[in-house]
Amino acid sequence: MIKEFANAKSISEAAELLKKPGARILAGGTTFFEFYERGLLSDVETIIDIEEAGLNYVVEDSQNYRVGAGTTLEDLRRNRLFDAPQYQALKEAVQKVEPVQIRNVATIGGSLCSALPQYDPPIGLWALNANVVIVGGDIERVVSVDEFTKGFLSPDLQAGELVKEILIPKYGMSVGSSYQKLGRTRFDYGIVTVASLLEIDGGGSVKNASVVLGNYHEEKPFRAIEVEKRLIGHKASSQTISEAMGVLDDTSPPSAIHASSEFKKELAKTLVARSLSTSHERAVHVR
Ligand SMILES: Cc1cc2nc3c(=O)[nH]c(=O)nc-3n(C[C@H](O)[C@H](O)[C@H](O)COP(=O)(O)OP(=O)(O)OC[C@H]3O[C@@H](n4cnc5c(N)ncnc54)[C@H](O)[C@@H]3O)c2cc1C
Repeated sequence: MIKEFANAKSISEAAELLKKPGARILAGGTTFFEFYERGLLSDVETIIDIEEAGLNYVVEDSQNYRVGAGTTLEDLRRNRLFDAPQYQALKEAVQKVEPVQIRNVATIGGSLCSALPQYDPPIGLWALNANVVIVGGDIERVVSVDEFTKGFLSPDLQAGELVKEILIPKYGMSVGSSYQKLGRTRFDYGIVTVASLLEIDGGGSVKNASVVLGNYHEEKPFRAIEVEKRLIGHKASSQTISEAMGVLDDTSPPSAIHASSEFKKELAKTLVARSLSTSHERAVHVR
């Protein structure tokens, strides 16, 4: 039962408050409210609001853009730093969160920590190979987004830990990325979503590839490692892309109320191909 509502004024105060038994972070509150309505927060005794904890920022260092966990999705969408072709997987994924009223309050940290496979922004973060900075007491640790999402509603957070910021690697001019989503309407979650990133070398071959699908695995985003492997080292032609798609035939996405497994597989192939050719165009364009 909820007994206390605390307003953390800094990350260290939030971490201190998290030591209380049954303490839980509240960011924008949009998923938190749904958890509450579904009785998933019966063990929560103290709510720690981090809106005033100074976590809404984007700064850069030599290697990364550092995005505070409390940055709202709308602030992220409007940030000019992410207008470059390299970061469109994130920008477009954030843009797909509808309606705008949700983007105005929902945070990037809350989206990631919810650990739900239908959410858009985490798929973009996976494609960009982002890392997550976690704080617990005086200790800070960094894990990749892939490691951070352990499973359904299961972020890699121990008792007393919260996410401070997300590190987005700085990419050079030969990288392009993109995001694709197909839902029943623009306000629905995607039946399947896809984010990709391609790095093209001077000879036109794929140097690095990320291909990540949302709503394609029961528990968490699905990194199509076999597709990535088939792209790396080859010219990013439409033939290479369509051959790489073939390995998706061996996957088994879960059927859902709006789409069978077979339908998802076919849709995934279309969206992956579309996302990869867009990423390729963007990478080549900036070379
Ligand atoms: C009407 C509606 C429409 C939506 N449409 C979309 C959509 O189209 N696409 C989409 O992707 N999503 C959609 N969402 C989901 C929305 O994006 C998420 O609810 C939101 O991103 C969660 O962020 P938040 O800041 O509100 O997190 P909160 O609800 O405050 O928190 C969510 C969870 O994360 C934890 N948490 C939050 N921040 C931290 C932190 N820094 N460290 C540790 N734990 C933390 C909380 O304890 C809680 O468990 C929709 C939601 C609603 C209600």
